Amino acid sequence: MRLVILDRDGVINKDSEDFITSPEEWKPIPGSVAAIARLYRAGYKVVVATNQSGIGRGLLDMDTLGRIHARMLDSVRKRGGDIDGIFFCPHKPEDACVCRKPEPGLLNEIADRFKMNLNGVYVVGDSERDIVAARRAMALPALVRTGNGRKTLKESGELDGVPVFDDLQAFVSTLLSSELKTH
Ligand SMILES: [Mg+2]
Ligand SMILES: [Zn+2]
Repeated sequence: MRLVILDRDGVINKDSEDFITSPEEWKPIPGSVAAIARLYRAGYKVVVATNQSGIGRGLLDMDTLGRIHARMLDSVRKRGGDIDGIFFCPHKPEDACVCRKPEPGLLNEIADRFKMNLNGVYVVGDSERDIVAARRAMALPALVRTGNGRKTLKESGELDGVPVFDDLQAFVSTLLSSELKTH
């Protein structure tokens, strides 16, 4: 089975320092929804793994997060794609949970759910914690320059050997052209 795991904020949709707390604030990065649809048509399962500490901070509730994700799914499905799962961490950093990236808990959950290990599976993110989580889960990290990506490129000490792409669309083009190593 071919699987790609995506961070949400800064990869699929524009990030916000004030958190995304309503469906109206969910704005896709140009090309990202079409890129997910391309993956889907190419036979990939697409799963989202996202830190949503806004829940733990009381900035939005589960119902609202569900509506935000319904909007995301709707836009992907309108493009002829789909998302096979959305895994989120609702905790605050100080909760010291095992699922908030850079912890690998969300990714391990995905591996369990799909009954596979993550060797050869790309985790696409815009922040250092995505890269670290991917490594801890034995997956392959990839960085995009959207969202927090440019800042990560400048500041992260974890980028050794991590492929970097302008955006999700560029990642998908390269993955589907088989120019990206998966082992
Ligand atoms: Mg992000
Ligand atoms: Zn958590």
